[in-house]
Amino acid sequence: MWQEDLARNIKTADEIVGRLGASEKDAELIGKVCARYPVSVTEYYFDLINPDDPGDPISRIALPHIEELEESGEIYSGGEDVNTIIPGLQHKYGSTALLLTSDVCACYCRFCFRKRMVGMNESEACNDLSAACEYIARHPEINNVILSGGDGLMNSNDVLRHNFEMLGKLDQLEFIRIASRTPVVFPQRIYDDPELLDMLAEVAKRRQVYMVTHFNHHREFTPESKRAIDCLKKAGIALRNQTVLLAGVNDSFDALRRTLMGLANWGISPYYVFQCRPVRGVHGIFQVPLRSGIDLVETVKGSLPGISKQFRFVMSHGMGKIEILGLVGNGNTALFKFHRAKEPENNGLIFTEPIDDQQTWITIDGMV
Ligand code: SF4
Repeated sequence: MWQEDLARNIKTADEIVGRLGASEKDAELIGKVCARYPVSVTEYYFDLINPDDPGDPISRIALPHIEELEESGEIYSGGEDVNTIIPGLQHKYGSTALLLTSDVCACYCRFCFRKRMVGMNESEACNDLSAACEYIARHPEINNVILSGGDGLMNSNDVLRHNFEMLGKLDQLEFIRIASRTPVVFPQRIYDDPELLDMLAEVAKRRQVYMVTHFNHHREFTPESKRAIDCLKKAGIALRNQTVLLAGVNDSFDALRRTLMGLANWGISPYYVFQCRPVRGVHGIFQVPLRSGIDLVETVKGSLPGISKQFRFVMSHGMGKIEILGLVGNGNTALFKFHRAKEPENNGLIFTEPIDDQQTWITIDGMV
């Protein structure tokens, strides 16, 4: 059973140090971070770490950083607090409801923008969607939902079945998106569970289901992950991917290019590259300055075939999803466009903002 596999996750400073070794001082620091934010790494994902590489991207993604204890930065990003209608339901854009169906993930990414809640705040998530479905039924403008979390695939199959049955009664929904990093960090949950795959196939027969995967580095493309992706395809699930631009992980030409090429190679459409959000415990470690991020993304795009560069480089902002279009003039100004605006009158609006070398985010009308 996948739950038994998860129970063997690496969660403590002692386990990390026992496997990778560390000085007494480092072990103490790791312990401090583990006490502040949950750490949990599947054995599968931990085994992808190259212990001989001090800059190993998998380690950087999954293992604690002392800088996580920095208190600067936002707790909520993208307006998640003000967009929450009832526990587990956010309604920011008219046609889309975002459902947080779990606060649990197979592996807690150190860069998570929901660091405030994953693994520690059930009150923001709701694994029974009954109340959310009642809200959606009262809002006929909602024509699609995103099942997110945490990771919804950490719910049992019984919970998933119940939720799919509830959503299945809402004729207004034209498609369902499931945002999950499970294919990356715990693919066994997918390929070892025929019951889950049969259920997804049944849902997909009646309504288009997209799984939005979350590959951030080409080292995450393994035979096990491929097996999970192939099972999802066989179940009729369409695949899209969102990647976060992460300092020290994929902020190099080679890493980003190989990641985007690898997605296309597996038949997963690169959907978004996200600017990492200014979140507490994250921004000082992982954010790439906007100017160098734009340079990198444009350089990488120039080397990619069209199918690998279908993505938009975006930031999830309190004002909406803002596409980062490029630099203008001498490079001290950046061009942006509202890809999806919280206020409908801003949809499609193109604007410029001055940026400096180190700037990683923009503030508009006091919002971040
Ligand atoms: S899987 Fe997603 S929600 Fe969970 S820790 Fe990683 S980024 Fe956050």
